[in-house]
Order: sequence, then C-alpha cells, then structure tokens
Amino acid sequence: MSTPTVFDIIVIGAGPAGQKAAIQGAKANKRVALIERERGIGGSCVYRGTIPSKTLRESALHLDVLKRASAAFEFNLRPDTQIATLLGRLEDVVKAHDTFMSQQLRRNGIFLFHGRACFVNDRVIEMQTVDGASQRFTADTIVIATGSRPRNPPEIPVDHEHILDSDSLLSMIYLPRSLTIIGGGVIGCEYASIFSLLGTQVTLVDQAPAPLQFMDQELVRQFITIFERQGGHYLGGQKVREVHWDGAAHVVTKLGSGMTVKSEKMLVALGRQANVEDLNLSAAGLQATAKGTLPVNQFCQTDVPHIYAAGDMVGAPTLASKAMEEGRRAVRHALNLPVGDAASTIPLGIYTIPEMASIGLDEKSARERYRDPLVGRAKFEEIARAQISGAGHGLLKMVADPDGERLLGIQIVGDSATELVHVGQLALQSTATIESFIDNVFNFPTYAEAYRIAALDILGQVAKRRSAKAA
Ligand SMILES: Cc1cc2nc3c(=O)[nH]c(=O)nc-3n(C[C@H](O)[C@H](O)[C@H](O)COP(=O)(O)OP(=O)(O)OC[C@H]3O[C@@H](n4cnc5c(N)ncnc54)[C@H](O)[C@@H]3O)c2cc1C
Repeated sequence: MSTPTVFDIIVIGAGPAGQKAAIQGAKANKRVALIERERGIGGSCVYRGTIPSKTLRESALHLDVLKRASAAFEFNLRPDTQIATLLGRLEDVVKAHDTFMSQQLRRNGIFLFHGRACFVNDRVIEMQTVDGASQRFTADTIVIATGSRPRNPPEIPVDHEHILDSDSLLSMIYLPRSLTIIGGGVIGCEYASIFSLLGTQVTLVDQAPAPLQFMDQELVRQFITIFERQGGHYLGGQKVREVHWDGAAHVVTKLGSGMTVKSEKMLVALGRQANVEDLNLSAAGLQATAKGTLPVNQFCQTDVPHIYAAGDMVGAPTLASKAMEEGRRAVRHALNLPVGDAASTIPLGIYTIPEMASIGLDEKSARERYRDPLVGRAKFEEIARAQISGAGHGLLKMVADPDGERLLGIQIVGDSATELVHVGQLALQSTATIESFIDNVFNFPTYAEAYRIAALDILGQVAKRRSAKAA
C-alpha cells in the first residue's frame, strides 16, 4: 500500500501540543498526519524538559527525606555521584510514556511520519527525512506545533560542557560542586532549588531584585528564604557583563556590580525561543513577530485562517498543560466543533522546592482591578498535615472581592502546591463563594484544610469591616 499524501489535517511537531491536536482530529474521524523530526515522540516535554527535570527533582526530594532522618540514619551523598544515578528512573518513565503515546496515536489511526517539515505553500508541506529523501503532503488544515528551544544570547559562550543550557544540563556526568544559574525564571529557579537540595553550591543570578517577577512576591520571598536556608544564594539586581570558561576549573561570571562568581558549571536559563526558522513560513503567507513567535487569535488561528499554531511556539506561558489545551482547541475550531471559552484561568505550577502554584488573580492584580480586595492567609505551620510531613513551611493565599463573597484567585507556596491549586481552580470555575469553603468538610489531616483556614481569615476580615462601617 502506498503512503497516503492527502490528509484532512497535518500537524507539525509531536510534542504535547501536536499530539493533542492530532488525537482531537482523529477522534472527529479525520485523516490526520503527524510529522515529527526526532525519532521519539513527546517533544522537549519528554526528552529535555518536564519529565527529566521532575525525575531529578523526585530524587532530590527522596534524598532530602533521608537527610532529615539523620537522627536515625547516617546518610551522605557520595562526592562522585553521577547524574545518571539520580536519574535512574528516567529511562523507565520515558519508555512508559513513549509506549503509551505511540499506542494512543496508533489506536486513533494517526499517520506518524519522521522528518523535518516545511511549507511549500499554505496547503502543501514538504518533509525531509534523515536519509535525504523528501515527500510532499497536502491538507485543508495545518497545525504548527514545533515548540521551542533555549534562548542563548550570543555573548554567552554555551559549550554544553561547562556552560550549559536546559537542553544539555542533564548530560553532565557528575553532580557539580558549584553551579551558577543565569536567569530567575521558572527553569532557573526549579533547577536552582533541585541542585541546591542535592548539595551543589548554587548561585542564582538575575537582573530583577527578586526572581519570578510574574508570581506573587510574598510567595517568592518564602521560596528564596528556604532556598538560601538550603545553602543556595540569590544575587538579584545584577547585569551579567561577561562569562567565560577559564580553561582549567571554573566558569567565570563577571557582573555589572564588579562582583565575580566562579563555579564548576553554569546553566544559562534566559527563556525560550520558538522553533520557526525551518518552517519557511513566508511560503504560507505567515510571518513571525519580532519576538520570534507566531501570532494567533484565541482559537490558535494564524493570519491564514486554515493554519493554526499551538504550544510554546505561540509564546508564554510555556507549559505542557497549556500546549495540550491549545492543540485540542485549534483542531476543534478548525472542525467547527464547540471550543468552549478560552481558559481565562490556566493554573501555573512551578516545581521549585518548595513548589508554587497560582490560579486567577493574585493580590497585586486584584488591587489594580478592585479597590480593596480581601486576602485570606493560611500558614502551613498551622496545618497538621504539614507538621506531620516535616515540610512545615508554606502559605496559601485566597484572594476575594471587597465584600469577601467571591473567590478571585489562589496562590500557594509549599508542599503539594501544584496539586492543591486545582481545588481553587474548580472553585473559581464554578464561581464558588468564600463561605462554601467553610461549609465543606475537608479530610483531616490534609493540606486542603488550608482553604478552610484562609476562608475563615477572609470572613473574619469581613466582620471587622462591617463593624468598622457600623461604628
Ligand atoms: C527544563 C524544563 C522544565 C519544564 N517543566 C515543565 C513543567 O513542570 N510543567 C509544564 O507544564 N511544562 C514544563 N516545561 C515546558 C514544556 O516542556 C513545554 O511547554 C512543552 O513541551 C511545549 O510543548 P510543544 O508541543 O509546544 O513543544 P515541544 O514539546 O517542544 O514539541 C515540539 C516538537 O516539534 C518538533 N519539531 C520542531 N520543528 C519541527 C519541524 N520543522 N518538523 C517536524 N518536527 C518539528 C520537535 O522535535 C518537538 O518534538 C518545561 C520545560 C523545560 C525546558
């Protein structure tokens, strides 16, 4: 049987966005081609991003539990510990993921091709395979989901041996004794706290006074306190003037303040850059923005109505969860299926140690929109579950309207924050009242109890406001 070349939908890129787009198309009984340049499917999420970093994090958390039990066990990490040892489960995780995803594509009758795709025109795609062969495919709808890669500025000589980026970091053989991380975004902060917990001397450098500027800064302060208590060091308000490998033992980082930082390795974590260069976008009548992303509307539709783009390549937030939803959404719109409202409430999950999460409005944006919102706080120290786990530090902030009736947002730092935030997400989507958190019974002991404590805090403030008004 010859390979089909005419499809209803062609999806370029088999990361989270592309996969969900392809599956959505197939579920609507469309003939779908999925073109992926790598041998494996899953994108940077599976091979270089989410899954590897979270697997290393899990090892760090296990080691931390052992260290904390030092009264009972004598425990020390060997000085020559190899990264591969700490990533022991990664191969199994990736294999299981790959098998599951391949079965899913096969089950749905999706045609998977391996090769590099580019536009010939707005309905024709050419695919080059590694052996130099090329093939052309046509479709009425095309979804671009080619993802992103680390943004490495030319003045920083990333050599992937001493000066690494997030794609190459975990190819280090040994756990470094010291690590400088440039960039206080999500990836920089996550790796800073993971390596710090593993015993590496970490210096995190950023030009802003505090990292993660888009997050509630009260949460970020808690994170920094715990990171520094762990032995890490945050250097804020710093411009990086020069970075070089001294040819012997150190990466040397010269800062605008005159300070010099030396470390065995460096991670450059200065954001992501969309993969658009190979696509020959102009042949399809498309143009990337100055930032290098592809502009789309709320349905992920580009300026050419039958061409869609989803995932990292359309810009921030660069999250696998958002990429999947965009892939699904793009194809549903293309097929005239109900799309639903664009999620105005995408949860943010940051796997730092301790982790952070956010949904809806934070205190600062609520103040900008409402004159005087109410903010309830629940400190994890007050919660039995946190006391039992020994990971006692944390905070849940509940943001409500000035009457203390309507929930506007939730921000959490601490153990299980990325899971816990989904309670807030459902509450926001169902326009739950603050009182409903008090009317409900939560399991004991759980972190979820924090919702009740924060809600009680808000209702206490409402009562005070009322009596102040009445007086
Ligand atoms: C260190 C790190 C940690 C992260 N942690 C998290 C996390 O905890 N939670 C979270 O939600 N997100 C996390 N992310 C982000 C997440 O990995 C991305 O948001 C997600 O992978 C984006 O999905 P995508 O489908 O848009 O792109 P990608 O996953 O990048 O997939 C794009 C695919 O397109 C292919 N491709 C590119 N060009 C072509 C072409 N011309 N032809 C054919 N194929 C092509 C690529 O090979 C790739 O397989 C992390 C990222 C990093 C780097």
